[in-house]
Amino acid sequence: DTDLELVSLTKSYGATVAVDAISHQFKSGGYACLLGPSGCGKSSTLRMIAGHEDVSDGAILLAGRDVSYLPPAKRGTAMMFQNYALFPHLTVRDNVAFSLRMAGVDKPERNRRAGEMLELVEMTTFADRKPDQLSGGQQQRVALARALITRPQVLLLDEPLSALDPFLRIRMRAELKRLQRELGISFIHVTHGQDEALALADEIIVMNNAKIEQAGPARDVFNAP
Ligand code: ADP
Ligand code: ADP
Repeated sequence: DTDLELVSLTKSYGATVAVDAISHQFKSGGYACLLGPSGCGKSSTLRMIAGHEDVSDGAILLAGRDVSYLPPAKRGTAMMFQNYALFPHLTVRDNVAFSLRMAGVDKPERNRRAGEMLELVEMTTFADRKPDQLSGGQQQRVALARALITRPQVLLLDEPLSALDPFLRIRMRAELKRLQRELGISFIHVTHGQDEALALADEIIVMNNAKIEQAGPARDVFNAP
């Protein structure tokens, strides 16, 4: 059981309360979209779960264990960013394997696992290229492979599709849903697009003014037939 639970999670930046004591239980293996207007606290919430931002108060439980104070690499989470941030001087393969290199995994094992991940995102034939020889959508697949190689239980995505043209965006949505089915891990995806949330989410969490305003299946949240 890998349920992720937020307990009264709070983030303050000086006098600004960016996330105000939110509590939520994410279903394991689910696809949750965190939706809401700019500045409502979505990114801060995601960054706290990832460990890229300190928690001001409250707790983050993964499978019942408080991970609030663990370093990002030890939480069982991985994050994919909006601006992919691939290393320009490294090949696709070495970009994907980067976190394993940092963890001291030997080269044959790194290459084997990077190969698996590139197969998963259908980028095998691009393994020896540099990021600037790839399209935006291809770079995004590489960024996904790089996040997934750590075998996270929870994949965190911050506006991952917003830099793509509309055609690629639709394709990547299908790709993300396929990965959710194949890997059985939980996805938490931050977006300000209702259509994106409707297309992807098993569960939609609407944030407003640093609080959770509503949470539930898409049809309930949007009151669709
Ligand atoms: P969203 O992702 O929904 O746009 P954020 O979590 O980025 O919202 O921001 C929530 C609030 O916290 C905003 O008022 C924003 O200006 C503020 N904020 C975010 N990051 C910082 C920071 N590093 N320092 C100060 N204020 C911040
Ligand atoms: P997003 O819209 O995806 O939340 P932003 O463009 O608001 O991202 O923020 C990008 C970066 O700027 C983040 O690292 C965030 O912490 C920081 N930031 C956001 N708002 C503020 C703020 N009011 N003061 C200082 N830093 C901020």
